[in-house]
Amino acid sequence: MDGCIFCKIANGEIPSNTIFENDEFRVILDNGPATKGHALVLPKKHYADLFEIPEETVANAAIVAKKVAQNIKEKLNCDGLNLVQNNGATAGQTVMHFHLHIIPRYENDGQHILWKPTSPSAEELVDIKNKIVG
Ligand code: 5GP
Ligand code: ZN
Repeated sequence: MDGCIFCKIANGEIPSNTIFENDEFRVILDNGPATKGHALVLPKKHYADLFEIPEETVANAAIVAKKVAQNIKEKLNCDGLNLVQNNGATAGQTVMHFHLHIIPRYENDGQHILWKPTSPSAEELVDIKNKIVG
């Protein structure tokens, strides 16, 4: 897509620190990393988000993420790892080209990627469940 920075990076028009590439994806180092080794799985075709990306492509993105995560764990010796994928500005998406974050975690890395839990009542949870499955 014209003007999309991740299209340009994924297709090699703009250089990047690529750590994996195949026909469908490029995996690059994030230039504003949460931690050492923070990487992004970019499909070479433009899809804005999870709602646009085809099922097969997102399944393949997960397979690539697993391979890359395994390599990062071995080479950088991380203690844990988060996979994060934001959809929409409200959810923190800033680049509107689907990407899957691979975020290695280290003891005392000072990051806080997890959410703050809330306390809905049992009735509220049932109501939400019924809305989703109904
Ligand atoms: P989002 O908030 O959309 O889920 O994540 C966008 C990520 O892309 C951010 O972590 C940001 O640091 C990274 N990013 C934005 N522009 C560039 C760029 O030009 N190059 C690289 N390597 N990463 C980028
Ligand atoms: Zn794009």
